[in-house]
Amino acid sequence: MTQDPDAGAHQALRLIGPAPRNWVLERPGIDHNVVLVGGGQTGCAFAWALRRAGIGKVSVIDAAPDEAHAGVWLHAARMNLLRTPKSLVGPELSLPALSFQAWYEARHGREAYAAIDRIRRVDWAAYLSWYKQFLGIEVRYGVRLDRIEPAGDHFRLHLNTGIETTRKIVLANGVGGTGGPYYPPAMEALPTAFRAHTADVIDFSALRGKTVAVVGAAASAFDAAGVALEAGAGTVHLYARRDTIASVPISRSRGFPGAYDNYRSLPDAVRWEQAVRFRRYGSTPTVDAITRAVAFPNFHLHLSSPWESARIEGGQIVAQAGGAEVRCDFAIAGTGYFVDPNARAELAGFADKIMLWRDRYDPPVDQLDDYLGAHPYLGEGHEYLEKTPGTAPYLGNIHVHNVAGFVSFGVPIGDVPSMKRDIPGVTARISRDLMLADIDRHAERMRADVAPDFGPELYAAALNRGGLPPRGSRA
Ligand SMILES: Cc1cc2nc3c(=O)[nH]c(=O)nc-3n(C[C@H](O)[C@H](O)[C@H](O)COP(=O)(O)OP(=O)(O)OC[C@H]3O[C@@H](n4cnc5c(N)ncnc54)[C@H](O)[C@@H]3O)c2cc1C
Repeated sequence: MTQDPDAGAHQALRLIGPAPRNWVLERPGIDHNVVLVGGGQTGCAFAWALRRAGIGKVSVIDAAPDEAHAGVWLHAARMNLLRTPKSLVGPELSLPALSFQAWYEARHGREAYAAIDRIRRVDWAAYLSWYKQFLGIEVRYGVRLDRIEPAGDHFRLHLNTGIETTRKIVLANGVGGTGGPYYPPAMEALPTAFRAHTADVIDFSALRGKTVAVVGAAASAFDAAGVALEAGAGTVHLYARRDTIASVPISRSRGFPGAYDNYRSLPDAVRWEQAVRFRRYGSTPTVDAITRAVAFPNFHLHLSSPWESARIEGGQIVAQAGGAEVRCDFAIAGTGYFVDPNARAELAGFADKIMLWRDRYDPPVDQLDDYLGAHPYLGEGHEYLEKTPGTAPYLGNIHVHNVAGFVSFGVPIGDVPSMKRDIPGVTARISRDLMLADIDRHAERMRADVAPDFGPELYAAALNRGGLPPRGSRA
C-alpha cells in the first residue's frame, strides 16, 4: 500500500494528459452548453466525461442542500451491501485508476478488496464523494430545476434561484426522475401521518414498539423491514402480491456483451418482450435483504396478500389484504416507482409531445402492459423523440438518464450497470449535436490558415550537394 492513497489516480491523470480546451463555440445569451440535472453518481460521471470530450460550460445542479442529502446512498438506500456486483465498471468509465477497486485497494489493500463479496453501501457513498472531490467536479447544491421552457435553439431553465439558459439538458435525476414513488391505491387513501414510501426519509426510531406493515416484496421492502426491526419495531408484517418471493434474476440471460452493447438497436418486439419477461418474473430482493428480516422472530411474511383497501379506525390502520384483516400503526410502501412524463413539473407544457412506447409499438395481446407502455421511447442518444414529427424538435436536446430508459435500453439507466455503455454513448451524441449545430462556423474554423511548422531553410543544406542520384531514379 502506498503512503499517498491517491498516488495511482494522480499518475493516471498525468498519463492521459490535460483535458482538451473547450471547443464548443460561444453563442450570445447562452449560459451553459450542458446542464446536468442531478449531482449523484450519474451527474458527476457525466461532468467528467464531458470535460474529457472538450465540452466546456457544463453545470451540475442538485436540489439537495448538500452532498449528504443528494443521491440515494445515505438515506433512501437502506441495504448494507450494494445490490450490484463489485466488478462492474462504474464512474471511472475508461480509467481503472478512478475505480472503486483502485480507491478501496489504495486504502485497505488488495486482500481486503478480494475478501469483500459486494461493496458496502457506505463505502460506495464515500468513494463517490472522493471521486467528485478528486476530479474537482463542482455541484451546485440547493439549485432545483422547476420547469424547462423551450426557447428556439436553447432552453430557459426555471430554477428556484432564477432563470438560466442552456443548449443541452441531461436528466440525471434518479429513480423517480420520469414519474415518482408509486403507492398502491389502498395506501394512497391513508393520511400521510400513517404512511411513508421507501423513497422517503423515514424516522424509524418513531416506530419502536409499533406494529409496522410493509407493502411490497422487492429489495427496498425487505430493507425497510430490516431497518424497522433493527430499530426496535414491535412487529413487522410484509405483504407480497405473489405466492412466492421473486427469485429468478431473469435479466441475466441477456447479460452477454452482444445483447448489452447493441440493446438499443434490437427490434422493438425483442426489447418489449424482454421488458415484459422481466415484469413477469419480478424484481428479486437480495439474499441478504431477506435473511436480515427473516432472522427476527417478530417478522411475518404474508404471501398472496395485496392490499385491497385501508382506513383509519381507533388511531390504527385497518386494511384488507388477501381477504384477511390487517391492523397496524404505520405502513411503508416498498412498491417502486411509476413512469409518467405528465407527472413531472419540469416537463409541463410539452410532456404530451414525448413519444412513449405505447405510441410506437403495438404488442401482441398476451404482452399488453400499461406500465411499460408509459415509458418514453428514447433515441440512440437517450433523447426524447417527438410523438408527432415536427411538433417539438427541441426534445432531441433533452437526454434522459434515469430508469425510464429501461424499456429502450434494457438496464435501469443511472444504475451502475448502465454507466459503462451509456455515459460514453450520450457524451458522444452531445458532442456530435453541438458540433453539427454550428457546422458552418466550425467549417470556417477548419478552413482557417495554418502556420507552417518549419520553413525550407530546415532542409536547404541537403539541396544541390552535387552527388549523383541513385541508379534507376528518373533524374
Ligand atoms: C433503495 C435503492 C437501492 C439501490 N441500490 C442500487 C445498487 O445496489 N446498485 C445500483 O447500481 N443501483 C442501485 N440503485 C439505483 C440507484 O438509484 C442508482 O444506482 C444511483 O443512485 C443512480 O444515481 P443517479 O445519480 O442517476 O441518481 P440519484 O443518485 O438518485 O441522484 C439524483 C439526484 O438528482 C437530484 N434531483 C432530482 N430532481 C431534481 C431537480 N428537479 N433539480 C435538481 N436536482 C434534482 C436529486 O436531489 C438527486 O441528488 C438503488 C436505488 C434505490 C432507491
